[in-house]
Amino acid sequence: ERAEWAKLVDAPSVSKDGKEFEIAANIGTPDDTEDAVKQGADGVGLFRSEFLYMDNDHMPSEDEQFEAYKKAVVGMNGKPVVVRTMDIGGDKPLDYMPLPKEENPFLGYRAIRICLDRPELFKTQLRALVRASEFGPVSIMFPMIATVAELRQAKAIFEEAKAEVQKDHPGLGDDVKIGMMIEIPLAALNAAQLAKEVDFFSIGTNDLIQYSFAADRGNEAVSYLYQPLNPAFLSLVKHVITSAHENGAKAAMCGEMAGDEMALPLLMGMGLDEYSMSATSILRTRSMMKKLDTKEWAGYVDEIIANCATVEEVQDFVKSKLG
Ligand code: PEP
Ligand code: MG
Repeated sequence: ERAEWAKLVDAPSVSKDGKEFEIAANIGTPDDTEDAVKQGADGVGLFRSEFLYMDNDHMPSEDEQFEAYKKAVVGMNGKPVVVRTMDIGGDKPLDYMPLPKEENPFLGYRAIRICLDRPELFKTQLRALVRASEFGPVSIMFPMIATVAELRQAKAIFEEAKAEVQKDHPGLGDDVKIGMMIEIPLAALNAAQLAKEVDFFSIGTNDLIQYSFAADRGNEAVSYLYQPLNPAFLSLVKHVITSAHENGAKAAMCGEMAGDEMALPLLMGMGLDEYSMSATSILRTRSMMKKLDTKEWAGYVDEIIANCATVEEVQDFVKSKLG
């Protein structure tokens, strides 16, 4: 099996019926691009920028950030890199940036909420990203967006950052694509409105499941509620993908579900464009993708959403079709 997968390193990510997709890597540091390339990634679908803030004893400067992003972009040799803006706060504290103690960190002052509250901090990161786009295709995505108003504010700050960089580098950053993560149920429901204002979505299923099922993603006692194959959740994911496409946005996924073998045929049937996962899962996924027909699975998805009520029913159905 592994020998067969190894042959797929330079192969396109394509279904049995010839539909092209992208299988990308999730990375945590610029050095991880080496493995991503080795495993045949079509790009980086999620560069978690938190390491810059977490593995540091001071707030990283614009130049320090620029060097890190540039390294990741250069490491991917022209393949696209999606950088997520900082997702700190709440359960990811920083020693050098005291934040108020919170009763419910997962519902609190974190990620984009901090960035919109401290635009100078946010702009430093965005300027570094615009500068890095000189070295290869860069996309920026905002985590934990709940509302259109937040998205617009984030985009306005990006425009300011870009204008500042362009004083010295005319035109730089004009081809940077802007996206947002879908991690909050309201954003998933409102995907049609949000899609009109971004180039792409990336569905963060780790958080979207946590918030949809109201179950702490780190709490073993409620881990049975981690249910990517719950039919109600599948119909929410389908809604997000369809709404993206109807409004001119690309649909990606970067949560754990994107690398889930049982979910893959369903997500392909829904038309998900990009699958971002740990590098070690890429070749296995590309190999499986080649054997799946998207039109057939589009029909199965409709059947599942119409007829299945539980995770077990979905699993039995998928297994029976995979044979
Ligand atoms: C997610 O929420 O699915 C995601 C990819 O982000 P993180 O796991 O870093 O919260
Ligand atoms: Mg998340």
